[in-house]
Amino acid sequence: MAHTKLYIPGPIEVSAKTFAAMTHPMIGHRSKDFQALYGRIMPMLQSIFGTTQPVFMSTSSAWGVMEGCVRNLVAKKVLNCCCGAFSDKWYDVSLACGKQAEALKVEWGQPITAKAVDAALSKGGFDAVTLAHSETSTGVLNPLKEIAAVVKKYPDVLLITDTVSSFSTVPIPFDELNLDVMLLGTQKALALPPGMALFAASNRAFERAATIKDRGYYFDFIEFRKNAENHMTPSTPVIPLIYALESKLNEIFAEGLEARFARHARLNGMVHAWVHKRGFDFLPPEGYRSKGLTCVKNNRGIDVAAMVSLLKKDHSIAIDGGYGKLKGQTFRISNMGDETEASMQVVIDALDDVAEKMGF
Ligand SMILES: *Cc1c(COP(=O)(O)O)cnc(C)c1O
Repeated sequence: MAHTKLYIPGPIEVSAKTFAAMTHPMIGHRSKDFQALYGRIMPMLQSIFGTTQPVFMSTSSAWGVMEGCVRNLVAKKVLNCCCGAFSDKWYDVSLACGKQAEALKVEWGQPITAKAVDAALSKGGFDAVTLAHSETSTGVLNPLKEIAAVVKKYPDVLLITDTVSSFSTVPIPFDELNLDVMLLGTQKALALPPGMALFAASNRAFERAATIKDRGYYFDFIEFRKNAENHMTPSTPVIPLIYALESKLNEIFAEGLEARFARHARLNGMVHAWVHKRGFDFLPPEGYRSKGLTCVKNNRGIDVAAMVSLLKKDHSIAIDGGYGKLKGQTFRISNMGDETEASMQVVIDALDDVAEKMGF
């Protein structure tokens, strides 16, 4: 169907094959068919998560589980690592859940460093940290391995990691990194429609949750674990999306995980080459750039809004003109999901065409 193709960093383009998978006849969520479906999906998810823990499917966007993490796991005080729109909001959500919270703030575009996390935690009193691995609003990829190693020095502190725009673009081995929660929404790196979040939690996280009285119901981690033992979900899940997830996971394993990571690196490199060629810079410093999207700094002072609308008008392509306070100062291009060399060349050619038309 003719439409504007999405190269915004989420929701991203969804394939006809994925949509077709969603039209599977409906099944009951307490049926053997559903248990079999979850049973086929679970090992594939565990393999990408790098975990032996169950992986849960939550019928919500990522924020549902992000709020759930705060409600299930914070008894004393949470350190919210704030480096952009999504990670900043986690601090507000923590306060909105009635929790003690402290924001570890860096300027938008800068990464969170392990040293800063260590310095904050060394003051004591914390029992959880929230971190956006890939901060989608700024294109920053935070040094998760280093941060996880530092958090491990504090036995009472759980590390809650948002991998919404990094999942399956780079390896994130949950067990090996000693993460306590890893979560994502379906509409970004997995190229599924919005409406579902996936997450895994550590034994330490479940032990903590069991001590917390007011976990609520819909995002109660203990309920998720109890139900997952029978390959079920606590409440009626978004079954069409689960069929789409199965289809996507089959594609991912047909391609191979390593090949998928390599493809994302190559496609991201194509966008980076265009950025260099046109004399632009990146918002994040070198070594801290997401592999699934690129956040370009508008150091040339072009009219970003005009560029975005020309791309839509002349090429039926959508890129993002900067998130929140970065509007006009940055623009973002996604290479997540199903993109290929050919499909990224389409957006690069379109960007070149618009650059010629606008004279930059
Ligand atoms: C998109 C995004 C979210 C929020 O996802 P919703 O699906 O809107 O709940 C959270 N964190 C990051 C890093 C994101 O990119």
